[in-house]
Amino acid sequence: MTAPRSAASGLAQCGISVVVPVFNESEVLAEFHRRLSDVLAALALPSEVVFVNDGSADQSLAIIRALRQQDPRITIVDLSRNFGKEVAMTAGLHHARGAAVVVIDADLQDPPELIPQFVRLWQERGYDVVYGQRTSRAGESVLKRTTAYLFYRLIQHTNRVRMPADVGDFRLMSRRAVDALNQLTETQRFMKGLFAWIGFPQIAFPYERDRRYAGNTKFNYWRLWTFALEGITSYTTFPLKAATYLGLLIAGVAFFHAGWIVLKTLLFGEPVPGYPSMMVVILMLGGVQLMGLGVLGEYVGRMFNETKGRPLYFLNEYTPAELPEASGEEVV
Ligand code: UDP
Ligand code: MG
Repeated sequence: MTAPRSAASGLAQCGISVVVPVFNESEVLAEFHRRLSDVLAALALPSEVVFVNDGSADQSLAIIRALRQQDPRITIVDLSRNFGKEVAMTAGLHHARGAAVVVIDADLQDPPELIPQFVRLWQERGYDVVYGQRTSRAGESVLKRTTAYLFYRLIQHTNRVRMPADVGDFRLMSRRAVDALNQLTETQRFMKGLFAWIGFPQIAFPYERDRRYAGNTKFNYWRLWTFALEGITSYTTFPLKAATYLGLLIAGVAFFHAGWIVLKTLLFGEPVPGYPSMMVVILMLGGVQLMGLGVLGEYVGRMFNETKGRPLYFLNEYTPAELPEASGEEVV
């Protein structure tokens, strides 16, 4: 086991860190930063904004650097290539130094204006995790909404740890929740599952998910499908069990059917060779076996990736924010 690659110590060095994964968001970054700054300025806590550039191919990094020139509260974490949103968020959490950490998308679908309310629930009511729960998803197609709905309902019934439905990555976490998360070193990171797995007092905060401010979603249907598979296979071993039970069921039915065939042949003889029924059984069993193998393969593949024990990401650049002098005491 490797130690968590956390740059932050257990002792928080500022009030709030806002972690923002960024992949080709040049059209939204300036507006995002403007709205977020207004919100942070109104907070009574010192803050930093951790922009994680996830291998953007556009001007995103240049824009973040320009923002950093004007605003020293910005931390830049530039990954060596595109690692995907889950790893980008993880890198942000490793480098966040706040007593509480907010994770938010750059595209303004999650309104930064809700952050003060998250902070209040954390400070005044002592919740370790305050997560945004979407009551509506404006600007997303019926297909995306339906598949998302089905995915959340399916995954909820397959694991003892309940993963709340319609909850994205937009959330606030206390320092101890972030430290807990940073100890989970698996390379296959399905963050929604990990967020739920760590436990601690958690509360949902219902909100309306806005449209993207500009640009397009980075998740097409194929990517969402692999994401869903990733989610299911890294969150639960239910498909393995399902394969076992399906096998048992089919074997049970086959056993009784065999008894029936023997009895029938003894009583009435066997005048016609049953080609059609035989083909149906062969094809169906072949299909079921291949499916079972595929499920097994998904898990073996994941074990293969896990055993390589590679680091989650590499950094191209790390520019920490200039925080007010640490007094040595925890800022909360
Ligand atoms: N993102 C990322 N790496 C990726 C894909 C997306 O860091 O490989 C970021 C993206 O810049 C945005 C957030 O993840 O801040 C959510 O992405 P997007 O809006 O495309 O997803 P959606 O809201 O459609 O689910
Ligand atoms: Mg989005």
